[in-house]
Amino acid sequence: MVLDKMGDMRRTHYAADIGPELEGQEVTVFGWVHEIRDLGGLRFLILQDRTGKLQITIHRHKVVKEVVEKAETLQKQYSIGIKGTVKKMGKAPGGAEIVPNEMRIFSVSQQPLPLDITGRTKAEIDVRLDARVLDLRREENQAIFRVQHAALQAIRSYLSEKGVMEVFTPRIIVSATEGGAALFPVAYFNREAFLAQSPQLYKEQLILDFEQVFEIGPFFRAEESHTRRHLSEFISVDLEKAFANAEDVMNVLEELIHHVCKYVKENCKRELELLGHEIVVPEVPFKRLTYAQVLEELEENKIHLNWGEDIPTPAYRILGKLHPYYYFITDWPTKAKAFYIKPKDDNPELSEGFDLMWKWVELSSGGARIHDKELLMKRLSEQGLSTESFKTHLQTFDYGMPPHAGWGLGLARFVMVLTGVKNIREVVLFPRDQVRLTP
Ligand code: ATP
Ligand code: MG
Repeated sequence: MVLDKMGDMRRTHYAADIGPELEGQEVTVFGWVHEIRDLGGLRFLILQDRTGKLQITIHRHKVVKEVVEKAETLQKQYSIGIKGTVKKMGKAPGGAEIVPNEMRIFSVSQQPLPLDITGRTKAEIDVRLDARVLDLRREENQAIFRVQHAALQAIRSYLSEKGVMEVFTPRIIVSATEGGAALFPVAYFNREAFLAQSPQLYKEQLILDFEQVFEIGPFFRAEESHTRRHLSEFISVDLEKAFANAEDVMNVLEELIHHVCKYVKENCKRELELLGHEIVVPEVPFKRLTYAQVLEELEENKIHLNWGEDIPTPAYRILGKLHPYYYFITDWPTKAKAFYIKPKDDNPELSEGFDLMWKWVELSSGGARIHDKELLMKRLSEQGLSTESFKTHLQTFDYGMPPHAGWGLGLARFVMVLTGVKNIREVVLFPRDQVRLTP
């Protein structure tokens, strides 16, 4: 088949712009064939572009022969351009249709497609991820990423207005920052390096210069477990602030969550409707539970944990039922937290570390950090980490490191809450896990 050139054809309108008020006007639209309905002498095309869908109506005897012939060759997902006249039509999406005068076919598609792009025939997530770009043609899927985009805009503008500066720290690093999580090694010339698990050490160092910084970027963890909330590559929203304690940065976090929920609710009405999801804007301050309170609540629900133990997933599930909203867990045992988390001044067994939860899922971890070099070195040794491998980091504590605090928020987990989606793989364009490295 001979394909048409785009040539001088240029879009005048998007699908969402076409309405009955344009009656009689000549327009040019571009997009992909989403559906074809053939009623003998009448053929309906549903054209999809980034703003939505549009009906093109072809009466065999009322449009030019060339258009009729081309329309007969069309298949789902062909990319085309149409020049035509707008006509009021109550039953069409947007209340108007286009009667074409000219059609250009730019590209064809292989048939049958690996997925039903209308989504009417449901496919397993792995089948969908294997043909991800096609899967992303579905409006519900596009809605997820528009919500993410809006959330990112809201995060950036909120933090920037508070005087927090956006930074980028290295992805290729020499030593681990998060004790528990496994690293991906990288062959770095003739040395071994790793992909960063978090920007922890660098963001702490940078508050010496900029006082408050944030970073939005990918981090990497060799997660062995296959869950619906872990991936090997994830986007983290990180904040670090000088002259602040845990409560100060918890305030920033809850205010930010409140702001983003409000912004997305107001600016993504169509997307949330497509997803069938309603956002409840949470009131601040969020509930705060101490780790000790959590243990007591679990005990009452017949789950016994020894003090100092991490909270296992089944226990979190119960907590989520008791607290079906955003809440903080504070006052974690120092030994359960990373080496850089500050022990409480009045009780060093407890730390100034916190987690932000949504129901049973952890969205963010944070805390006040140790800024005293001696204490930091002691904590490294207690956790079996070598001070030698943290040499360059420790050095910066000789340059007047102020008290500071911060947090890291998993973007995808937050987007799951904003969209009501249950599997993290759905809210990441090209998810990476232990078994998936393509597409
Ligand atoms: P979890 O206990 O859920 O495995 P974590 O405590 O190991 O998470 P942190 O080191 O506290 O994770 O990282 C901060 C935030 O980054 C987490 O609260 C979470 O939102 C996000 N995050 C961490 N690991 C992953 C991952 N593998 N995939 C997606 N998001 C992650
Ligand atoms: Mg955590």
